This record gives sequence, structure tokens and C-alpha cells, in this order.
Amino acid sequence: MEWKGRRGSDNIEDRRRTSGGRTASIGGAGAVIVFLIAMFLGVDPSKLLGPGGLEIGTGSGEPVELTEADVQAGEFVSVTLADTEEIWTKVFAEQLNARYTPAVLVLFKDHTPSACGGASEATGPFYCPADKKVYLDTAFFVTLQRKLGAHGDFAAAYVVAHEIGHHVQDELGILGKSMTLRQQVGQEESNAISVMVELQADCLSGIWAREAAQTLGTVERGDLEEAVNAARQIGDDTLQANAGQRPMPHTFTHGTSEQRSEWFLLGLNSGLIADCDTFSATDL
Ligand SMILES: [Zn+2]
Repeated sequence: MEWKGRRGSDNIEDRRRTSGGRTASIGGAGAVIVFLIAMFLGVDPSKLLGPGGLEIGTGSGEPVELTEADVQAGEFVSVTLADTEEIWTKVFAEQLNARYTPAVLVLFKDHTPSACGGASEATGPFYCPADKKVYLDTAFFVTLQRKLGAHGDFAAAYVVAHEIGHHVQDELGILGKSMTLRQQVGQEESNAISVMVELQADCLSGIWAREAAQTLGTVERGDLEEAVNAARQIGDDTLQANAGQRPMPHTFTHGTSEQRSEWFLLGLNSGLIADCDTFSATDL
């Protein structure tokens, strides 16, 4: 992907210099600020602070040094995010006659709080609908490459595009509905709904890849193969097999390697949001 020297996004929240391992309780001035925030929100401040205090990342005051690789990864994510904003603004206008409101992407190291709970290496990158932010530790890109066998910069860009795909679902009202539905059914059915949500996000990232190639012209030879390979490598069946387990379809939450790559390719070839309707598909 062509990204060096290109425009980055304004919607990056870089917490990498302040997040980093430790958590601290808020006392003194911090408690006053929390109380003021609580008054604004009209909530009980003890609910914000909780018994262990509010997690605020590092309280140590030690600055976290960013390596050259960190800086590069941050710029890469920023350019990719800017591309998703340009593309979804265009696609929303053309296909839905609607305005796209971009998400914020939080870069962090080790762990950081989110409105959906703590973000860490264990959670992997995710989208939190409660604060409309994507949480990403760029160390995941190293995991992607070395442990999951998803090589190339476009594999990393696909991860960003997939998470933004969840934000697109949120903007379309699909994410909220699916979450309500999942709370009303049993575990297996809830997993099946999760698969539909995830495959749709893969399809939406296919639309992003198509526009990046056709409209922005930033896709290089081999890029699309990198994204398709990434989608295959993080299929539930492949992940379970690589972990030495027999794949158990009723536990799948993201879809098989074949499904993930197929839905990405469907979005790539069609370019239409309407064609990414995994909820109406008779066969995923
Ligand atoms: Zn997802």
C-alpha cells in the first residue's frame, strides 16, 4: 500500500506515551474532576470511581519512549484511517444519501481503559460502540505477521478496515440491533449472530479495499492477496486448528477461513453495502 508521506487522520487519539502497564486510583484533584464529570453526566460519581478507583492508564508519570517502529506504525494507521474516512464518506453519500461520521482510533501500549472495559494485548483490536472508538495496540501487527502468518502492510490495513467496518455497522444501526438480539438468545445462537456481524465487517472492508484501489489508487501489486490471506489466517477453524484443537463450529464467533475470505472478496468485487447483507444470506 502506498502510504508514506500521505495525509493522516485527525481522529487519532494517541495514548501511547501515557498508557503503559500501570493503573492508578484517582485521588485529590482527579477525584474532583471525576465528580465534575459525573455532575455533567448526571450520574453517581461512586459509579465512575468504583471500589478500586478509576483506571487511568499509568499513574507513574514515567514517560513511555516510542521506538521508530512505533512511530511508523502510528503513521501507517493514521493514513489508513484517513483513507477509510474518505472512502466511507463517498460510499455513504453515493449509496445511502447519508453523511458518514468518522470514529476515533485510540493507539495505546499494553493497556488502556475503554467504555467497553479494559483494552489490552489479550483483547486484541476492537471497536467499542459505547464510545465509538477503535482500540489498537500496534504490537498486534507483529502478532499478525509472526504468529498468525498474515504478512504484508495490507494485512494490517485490513485489520483497521475491519474494525472501522464495525463502526459502519454501528452508524447503520446494525450493531446495536445485533447486540440486543444476542442478549435474548442462547450461547450458540448468539455465536451465530456474531459470525454474521463479523462476516459483514469483512465484506465492508472489501468495499474499502475496492475503493482504495479504484478511487485512491494506493493499492499495490500483492496487496489484495495479503488481505485475503489475512482473512483466511484469522478464520475460527484455522485459529482452533493452529491451537491444536479440533474445530468446533458451534463455538465459532467470526466465521471460517473460507467464509471470511469469501465475504471480503464479495465486498471487493461488488462494492455495494446492500450486497454485504449477511443477515439475509441463506448460506454464509
Ligand atoms: Zn470484528
